[in-house]
Amino acid sequence: MTGKTALVSGAGGFIGSHLVRRLLAEGLWVRGVDLKFPEFSSTAADDFVIGDLRDPGFCRSIVDRRFDEVYQLAADMGGAGYIFTGEHDADVMHNSASINLNMLEACRRRAVPRIFYSSSACIYPLHNQEDPDNPNCAEASAYPAAPDSEYGWEKLFSERLYLSYQRNHGILVRIARYHNIFGPEGAWQGGKEKAPAAVCRKVALAPPGGEIEIWGDGNQTRSFLFIDECLEATLRLTRSDFSGPVNIGSEEMVTINGLAGMAMRIAGKQLSIRHIPGPTGVRGRNSDNRLIREKLGWAPSRPLEAGLAATYRWIEQQARRNERVRQAA
Ligand code: NAD
Repeated sequence: MTGKTALVSGAGGFIGSHLVRRLLAEGLWVRGVDLKFPEFSSTAADDFVIGDLRDPGFCRSIVDRRFDEVYQLAADMGGAGYIFTGEHDADVMHNSASINLNMLEACRRRAVPRIFYSSSACIYPLHNQEDPDNPNCAEASAYPAAPDSEYGWEKLFSERLYLSYQRNHGILVRIARYHNIFGPEGAWQGGKEKAPAAVCRKVALAPPGGEIEIWGDGNQTRSFLFIDECLEATLRLTRSDFSGPVNIGSEEMVTINGLAGMAMRIAGKQLSIRHIPGPTGVRGRNSDNRLIREKLGWAPSRPLEAGLAATYRWIEQQARRNERVRQAA
């Protein structure tokens, strides 16, 4: 044990549950907080509190000491099917903004020395992401602001909120703009899953020689970062003397069709793709890692295909287990 303590809010979610394990492995005492326990494995946290971070009193009760590190990951979020349809805009803005306002204030009252905040690539202006081959996601391009979703606007507001607490209250804040983090134990069905998990699920469930559906023409580009790489960058940033905001992502850009092809190669299945209408978000997005390389000397260590293979194997297992349960019922 290091004698250090950490609080992870959003610890029942994808990144939070992995982060708790990583912090414990490093010898910290960890409290996790969420509306729910992690879905796919039991939590590793020393202490796990279930509750609603939209309630300021609840936030004060869980920040009951001067934690050495606080990681604020809780947000109302999901994949394109949740964020880009417009149906959840009021919830996304109200819920996530309330969580950030409450958590920061609770941390200030306890003189928490440093807090990490997970912003998103969704803050970048739509007009810089219309060319799939040449998107501009350099940190400085965030302003003049024009995100393409209310999710992005809330993240931008909250970045500014955290930075204002740093300026006015002396709390050290570290802000990452995550670009599509993926891996085992992430949502893989039900509407909140993102492209890598959705593609792996479709490929895993398709019969040999069958067909999968892709939203849009599949020529939209993205980059995807494997969870272990994300955690390494997150910890380096949090413990550095650099506030950010800084991109944490991969610069290995692929089209969604290319991603589907990669999943098929991993699965050893030749499938055809049917393009159907659906929410696709911006035409192109890629992480720009110049700033994080310069400030933290960090870059992803493994190619996309390695992380996708690990994710595919996990989703295939989940799909098989579901099928066994369905047959037994
Ligand atoms: P996730 O949805 O798996 O985790 C978020 C967690 O927050 C969930 O477990 C949810 O229950 C919890 N939460 C939501 N509202 C709450 C409330 N009122 N009280 C308590 N807990 C609440 O998402 P994730 O992929 O782990 O993302 C973590 C953070 O990183 C989020 O802030 C997200 O916006 C940001 N981010 C993620 C990605 C990505 O690709 N995964 C990309 C950009 C930014």
